Amino acid sequence: MSKLNIVLFGPPGAGKGTQSEFLIRKYGLIHLSTGDLLRAEIKAESPLGLQAKEQMDAGQLVPDEVVIGMIRNKMEANLEAKGFIFDGFPRTRAQAIALDEMLAEKSEPITVMLALEVPEAELVKRLLNRGATSGRSDDQDETVIRNRIREYEQKTAPLKEYYSAQGKFKALDGVGSVEEITTRLMEAVG
Ligand code: AMP
Repeated sequence: MSKLNIVLFGPPGAGKGTQSEFLIRKYGLIHLSTGDLLRAEIKAESPLGLQAKEQMDAGQLVPDEVVIGMIRNKMEANLEAKGFIFDGFPRTRAQAIALDEMLAEKSEPITVMLALEVPEAELVKRLLNRGATSGRSDDQDETVIRNRIREYEQKTAPLKEYYSAQGKFKALDGVGSVEEITTRLMEAVG
């Protein structure tokens, strides 16, 4: 059976992490979140973590080669997976090209890109709420939050066209209850 490789796409605060948890359980996928991987590096005080922290704290993207290397390592450590859910990756065109190349080596292309759409005012509200409980410093400062949304609009949103050109882009309304959005995602996976 071919693998199910999902790119879960959307701006910061769209609900990618929350919805990933359900998709992982339902389809038995491995979760690859570059944000989680980077936060683990920071916690471990690794050289990579120390380098990435400054950019993350400012709400800027870390360099492509850093996240591409992390994803490559994780994919190679999980060769038997039924598929992957990519959460917060790719975020630039260079990352999307590198991901396609890595998957082509294994003849397991991306199945679908599911994009959660949420208006900016709602994103800022959700992230500030999350910041109050998660301890994530990049969720506690509205300037940093707005920088992250700008980075998304400038560098990441154009990937909709990249995946559209491959016939893989599906947009979903990301506003509603967690369960409602889960149902929409399931229907989109088919
Ligand atoms: P996230 O948890 O996905 O919101 O990511 C938190 C922060 O980690 C982002 O604001 C970026 O600084 C960094 N980051 C996570 N994933 C990527 C990526 N694919 N490319 C560049 N930077 C990333």
